[in-house]
Amino acid sequence: MIEFCKLHDIELIEAEAPVIYGLFRYDNDYLSALRSQFPNSNYVVLGGCILDFNAIFYCRIMYCTKCREAHLLWTKLHNSQNGLAPSDEQHKAYIESLKRKIGYPAIIPPKALGLIENGQLNQAIKLLKVKNPKSSFSSIKAFVMAQHSKLSANNS
Ligand SMILES: [Zn+2]
Repeated sequence: MIEFCKLHDIELIEAEAPVIYGLFRYDNDYLSALRSQFPNSNYVVLGGCILDFNAIFYCRIMYCTKCREAHLLWTKLHNSQNGLAPSDEQHKAYIESLKRKIGYPAIIPPKALGLIENGQLNQAIKLLKVKNPKSSFSSIKAFVMAQHSKLSANNS
C-alpha cells in the first residue's frame, strides 16, 4: 500500500530510523511545528522510558522528504536538535552505553540461542557468563528468560 504525506501530498519513503529510549521533553514550539510543518519527518522513533532486553535499536518507518526538509530548516532557524537522529557514531556509542547500563550480554553465541530454544536454560546462562564475564548473573538470567518467553510465545 502506498502511503502519502497528507501535508505535502507526496509519497512516503520507507527507511530505517534509530529508536531512542528514555524520556524526552520537547518544548511546545517544537511540538506544534512538528504537527503543523513536518508531521512525517520521522528522523527518530521514541521507544518510551522502558529499558528491556527485547529493546530494538532501529525500526522501519515511512518518511516524507518535504517534511524532512522543513524539519531541518526549523532546527536551523531555532538552533535546536529536537527530534533529530544522532549521527551513526553517536548512535553506536549510545547503544553501547545502553547495553552496559542494562547489563545486556554483548556476546551471544548461536549455541546459546540453541540451548535456550531447547529449554536448557541453565546451560545457556553458564555459556553466556563464560563469554560475558562482566555481565552479572542476574542480567544474563533476565536476558535468557526474556528470550525464552519470546520463543515460547512465537511457537504457541
Ligand atoms: Zn510531508
